[in-house]
Amino acid sequence: MNMKLGFNEATTLENSTLAQDLVYCEKHGFDYIEIRIDKLKEYLIDHTLDDLQSFFEHSNIKPLAFNALEFFNFRNKTTFENMKEELRWLNHISNAIGCPYVVAVPSLDIGDKSSREIFEESVQKLKELASCLEDSELKLALEFIGYPNASINTLEQAWNVIQALNHNKIGLVVDCFHLYGMNSRISGLKEIDPEKIFLLHINDSEDIIPGMVRDHNRVWPGDGVIDLKLIIQTIESIGYKGPATIELFRREYWELEAEETIKQSMERMRKLFQICI
Ligand code: ZN
Repeated sequence: MNMKLGFNEATTLENSTLAQDLVYCEKHGFDYIEIRIDKLKEYLIDHTLDDLQSFFEHSNIKPLAFNALEFFNFRNKTTFENMKEELRWLNHISNAIGCPYVVAVPSLDIGDKSSREIFEESVQKLKELASCLEDSELKLALEFIGYPNASINTLEQAWNVIQALNHNKIGLVVDCFHLYGMNSRISGLKEIDPEKIFLLHINDSEDIIPGMVRDHNRVWPGDGVIDLKLIIQTIESIGYKGPATIELFRREYWELEAEETIKQSMERMRKLFQICI
């Protein structure tokens, strides 16, 4: 198994900065980094975009995605316009550093909306966001959230939106925790065009039933109850070749030294992919 490995900065959300994550991820052999937008803004307070560009020019690690455009559907006009503005800014950053994807996350707690309304609204809003990226390399990756109150919360629902859009700039994030979170069928991955899977997020979950798990229940791959081996083998069987990014949101791991969290992340990812051969 030869997937390239990425590190998502949520894993060190409270114990590190972008500048530190870059150095430690490069040192411990990650191929890619998924950059948190909040950490990027913090970085640019005392660094320049040239600094970031120069770091990537002189390193093996490459940028993979910006995380995230949060809550893109069912927004009022002003907040949605602000999101488009942020997307144009990310496009500018992407032009400098060559980051291919930005993750888009659906809204939570939208009240009594029908499946049809959610579908139509999501298709329309993603199309509108993609229209900001016409002469850009940046693409949108829709991440369904496996919570009962998320407007797009299963693989099937997200895939229906992506299929309807049939847009070369819009694809999917498959996040193992979110697959588990609302009991999406792993076999459902077999119906997906691998070209439309832009990102794969790797994580595990404490033994808490689907519908009840939340981000803080994520644990190191191998320490939880998700059948990661089956997910990885299934996604590989349809022709997805990577990358795979570790993404955890766990306080205990934020209490470690940043480098320790990143070192452990790499060890866990290597171990996981060894058993998946
Ligand atoms: Zn994710």
